[in-house]
Amino acid sequence: MSRPRLFIISGPSGSGKGTLLANLRERHPDVFYSISATTRAPREGLEQDGVHYYFLTHDKFEEMISQNAFIEYKRYCGNIYGTPRKPVEDALAQGRSVILEIETEGMRDAFAQYPDAVTVFISPPSLEILGQRLRGRQSEDEEKCLRRLAQAEEEMKRRDEYRYVVINGDLTEAEEELNRIYRVETDEI
Ligand code: ADP
Ligand code: 5GP
Repeated sequence: MSRPRLFIISGPSGSGKGTLLANLRERHPDVFYSISATTRAPREGLEQDGVHYYFLTHDKFEEMISQNAFIEYKRYCGNIYGTPRKPVEDALAQGRSVILEIETEGMRDAFAQYPDAVTVFISPPSLEILGQRLRGRQSEDEEKCLRRLAQAEEEMKRRDEYRYVVINGDLTEAEEELNRIYRVETDEI
């Protein structure tokens, strides 16, 4: 039996969280990936409601905040993002490991409530490479990329607060490292 854990994964936009977590989830289909709520618009053709995020109006989001329905929520680049509480509690109660993919301030709030959580920061090899990847993804216009890069510099300063830092240079190596962390922390080894 593996030991269920809560994993909190952060890293600047474009650092490779989505790519690395897709690989981890393939290897561990039993893990529960928390779907966040956001007021951001879906990336056209790429994102689906209820799969990548729950896309909510500001009003609905505020209503859920007042109902204490989020473990944590944060404003980020003009939108609000939050972790719905109930699905996470239910999955942990069922003995499943859970992954939260959230930014650094949200990590602090979630960690305060789950001090046994395993925190992992996904870092790009450099800000220059981050810029190249963000632009290569073509999901944001130049202004939004610049905003995310400025935010990235701030987030990188907080990486020492995490238990693990995975540098996503070579993709296969980073995938292996994340998988190793998962296995060690869930006692699968
Ligand atoms: P995030 O989810 O952190 O915003 P993504 O997973 O979307 O980041 O990755 C950003 C872009 O960089 C994507 O186009 C992805 O294919 C690419 N990418 C991710 N990891 C690597 C890597 N190790 N080497 C080269 N490109 C990568
Ligand atoms: P994106 O718009 O690129 O999907 O996400 C922007 C940032 O918001 C990323 O750093 C992502 O990890 C973070 N994020 C996504 N969901 C949540 C959440 O539920 N809570 C918090 N605090 N951050 C989130």
